[in-house]
Amino acid sequence: MSEITEHVKCLIIGSGPAGYTAAIYASRADLKPVMYTGMLAGGQLTQTTDVENFPGYPQGIMGPEMMEDFRQQAERLGTDIRFGYVSSVDFSSLPHKVVVDETKTILADTVIISTGASAKWLGLESEQKYSGFGVSACAVCDGFFFKGQDVAIVGAGDTAAEEATYLAKLARKVYMIVRRDEFRASKAMVHRAVNTPNIEILYNTETQEILGDGQSVNGVKVINNKTNEETTLDVTGFFVAIGHSPNTQIFKGWIDMDETGYIITKPGSTQTNIEGVFCCGDAQDHIYRQAVTAAGTGCMAAIDAERYLAAKEHVVTA
Ligand code: NDP
Repeated sequence: MSEITEHVKCLIIGSGPAGYTAAIYASRADLKPVMYTGMLAGGQLTQTTDVENFPGYPQGIMGPEMMEDFRQQAERLGTDIRFGYVSSVDFSSLPHKVVVDETKTILADTVIISTGASAKWLGLESEQKYSGFGVSACAVCDGFFFKGQDVAIVGAGDTAAEEATYLAKLARKVYMIVRRDEFRASKAMVHRAVNTPNIEILYNTETQEILGDGQSVNGVKVINNKTNEETTLDVTGFFVAIGHSPNTQIFKGWIDMDETGYIITKPGSTQTNIEGVFCCGDAQDHIYRQAVTAAGTGCMAAIDAERYLAAKEHVVTA
């Protein structure tokens, strides 16, 4: 049994753009937020290189540096930021119980879930080696760096089809690596990809290795799983679009989720099915998944939490 250590007004779980923005707004609303960063403090952006599409950075910025800016801003405004992970929750009664590092229980009047999502990777050593140096899991974030070059993208779902079409506008040629002889994506998306002249679809094809010179990617070795024929694609960029997993396992059984684990919020709000629990960022968004949209919903979550507490206080004192 873990020991109850404190009672806070607002507990923020996760430290990506959504969590930090929620922290900035909650601090300014005097909710005295406490944030637990999770094991990857700063979230997915700490694993990227240049970020050029976040407004306010005219020269672009490195992902880890941007998250450090977010952290400093939240801290300066009064957020109590702690390194640690939430191991379980109990949302059966108010205040909510949140167990941190399996050892201590914190009581929280409001909880903001901003645990994000993690891109799925193929699991190749070379993929990890060149991550951020030619290997990316986000075409919208990184496609621009491959303008006029040849790139490959793996996956056959809606994300892969959409990102291949996006990349085709920037790159000279896009190879789409599809492991079966058909797509999983919707007909409309497949139609778009198949009919884009500079997308070449390689069916029944699997990625064996990402090739590079130690600094950046210069090719991808693939194999046809029907003929066993091996080919090297001369590409400088390799995009992985085989799905994302929301980091929501600890909330299973408490919070309403869709079949893939994304948290369901009330339309136009960050309210979950549990009173006083709000969710923002990629944990509830499988469509946009951008730092700026995550930050926007982080702001919404803090405002929702603040209004919830104000309404409750009003009822108690009225
Ligand atoms: P999906 O799970 O739908 O598709 C993943 C794809 O990656 C599948 O084609 C799968 O192949 C392939 N894949 C998985 N593992 C590997 C591997 N190890 N090697 C090679 N290929 C692999 O994920 P998405 O991100 O595409 O979509 C997630 C959800 O979001 C879906 O519901 C989708 O409809 C939705 N979405 C909607 C959009 C829209 O409406 N505009 C845009 C983007 C997503 P296989 O088919 O062989 O299993």
